[in-house]
Amino acid sequence: LAQLFRPLDLLGMVYRTIRQGLIDMEAMYRLMDTQQEIADMDGAPALIASGGEVRFDHVRFGYDPEREILHDVSFTVPAGRTLAIVGPSGAGKSTIARILFRFYDIQSGQVSIDGQNIASVTQASLRAAIGIVPQDMVLFNDTVGYNIGYGREGASQAEIEAAAKAASIHDFILGLPMGYDTRVGERGLKLSGGEKQRVAIARTLLKDPPVLVLDEATSALDSRTENEIQDVLRNIARKRTTLIVAHRLSTVVDADEIIVLDQGRIVERGRHADLVRADGLYAVMWNRQAAEREDMPVEPGIGDVF
Ligand code: ADP
Ligand code: MG
Repeated sequence: LAQLFRPLDLLGMVYRTIRQGLIDMEAMYRLMDTQQEIADMDGAPALIASGGEVRFDHVRFGYDPEREILHDVSFTVPAGRTLAIVGPSGAGKSTIARILFRFYDIQSGQVSIDGQNIASVTQASLRAAIGIVPQDMVLFNDTVGYNIGYGREGASQAEIEAAAKAASIHDFILGLPMGYDTRVGERGLKLSGGEKQRVAIARTLLKDPPVLVLDEATSALDSRTENEIQDVLRNIARKRTTLIVAHRLSTVVDADEIIVLDQGRIVERGRHADLVRADGLYAVMWNRQAAEREDMPVEPGIGDVF
């Protein structure tokens, strides 16, 4: 009987370990990529990111090489501009973000940042250049200050507080029983979805990456919080190259380019007004969401895992 229990114990331990801290997106991806065994090339140089132009050039990719998920995807996000990626669930939106982080190598084509193939630079330098605000961040079981400071090793308390102010969470933190030393996470104070997202934003601000990936939050935020967060996000996206995986089309209206992905293909691209006029898949999604916006305030959705 004891033997029977051992694998279950192990599973329980792994599960708890993951619950307790590692569900931070980036940490989880680090875990994943050790399994994927993507290694730096010998003598790979560091990425030298300046403006942060992101380019996908005829990218083909399948998690299983036999089953291609992205079919010949090409786009360029000029430095400082915003690209929105929209499309039905399962279209491949998050896959694009994972490929940009090089959690997987592609089968053909090329992905580059500022003209450097991401497959030929060190992964550490690649990930240092990209910040991510996931849609549902799980905090480390540590202080709220630690959770923000994790964005950049060696950040001072003053820098942490400046980032928190910019993410509109500083005043909230000062109101906690122990301020920045208040423990949060599973075993500490539970933060709401909006508060956690602000912590994620503060962390990203501290990291100050030239490239930003936002997996837009749709779940568990009331519309006022959602609007406040949109404002903060718009601000931090302003001077950075930004890829938004957008669920709410109301947030992509201002994007410099929108690509509509369906079953791993770009089926439409352009700016909002052009796409509405084109009367294709985007227009269908837009009209459906317009109807929902009138009917109900916020539909709590199940956040898809980035
Ligand atoms: P989206 O973010 O647009 O909802 P994803 O990029 O997550 O879509 O998924 C695109 C396709 O890839 C789906 O068919 C999904 O089932 C598949 N997929 C996603 N992750 C994996 C994985 N780790 N292994 C195998 N297939 C996957
Ligand atoms: Mg997704």
